Amino acid sequence: MRIPLVAGNWKMNGDRRGVARLLDELLASRVADGAADVMVFPPYPYLPLVSERLAGTRIGWGAQNIADQDGGAFTGEVSGAMLRDWGCSGVLVGHSERRRIYAETDAVVAEKYAAARRAGLAAVICVGESLEERDGGRTLEVVRRQVEAVFARNTDDDFSTATFAYEPVWAIGTGRTATPEQAQEVHAFVRGLLDARAAGLGGRVRIVYGGSVTAGNAAQLFAMPDVDGGLVGGASLKADQFAAICAAAG
Ligand code: PEP
Repeated sequence: MRIPLVAGNWKMNGDRRGVARLLDELLASRVADGAADVMVFPPYPYLPLVSERLAGTRIGWGAQNIADQDGGAFTGEVSGAMLRDWGCSGVLVGHSERRRIYAETDAVVAEKYAAARRAGLAAVICVGESLEERDGGRTLEVVRRQVEAVFARNTDDDFSTATFAYEPVWAIGTGRTATPEQAQEVHAFVRGLLDARAAGLGGRVRIVYGGSVTAGNAAQLFAMPDVDGGLVGGASLKADQFAAICAAAG
């Protein structure tokens, strides 16, 4: 049985006061009292505040990015061990904004996944196609390439703690959500890739959907058999909406 996951990607939003308020509101809303695992992914500078407020609660936290190296002369980078120091249990890798704006290739994403594993962090590996790729009928080809690049760099049991996030680029921050059927098709495809990689792996690894998930559409998306929760951007910055999305996950 896979436990659903609802993860809030705060992106580059917030300030110290706003983050403190949001954390208070999330705790007051008891977002993690349901059946789903709940995590937040704040910007790096707020990890100390988040770890202070969320330690001992059922809300987990992680970072939005990780260095592909473990330490040394890599100015501006943050290693997996440093994230562990701040109590992170997870990390996002391969978010489409990192791939598109910061030119992270499939190979870099695979290295970052390996770095997360070395640090003992549970990674959320983001994959998804652009609008042009979808319109060109290339969705599954693109998702296969992204998933298999991570497979190629890592060994079978490296995926025991992984979560995949299917995030169609055209749905992120646009208000345009994939239909539950569109999400289900790709999720089932990714699960098939996992099963092809190792027997039974597909049944164990969570695959969450991301792309304009809201309190209004979460329940229909999460009702699909291969959708194990959501990676939520904009709506994760509003405690009431995030709480409703967490409740929709069980
Ligand atoms: C995201 O940042 O991963 C995301 C899915 O954003 P949004 O929910 O705002 O589309």
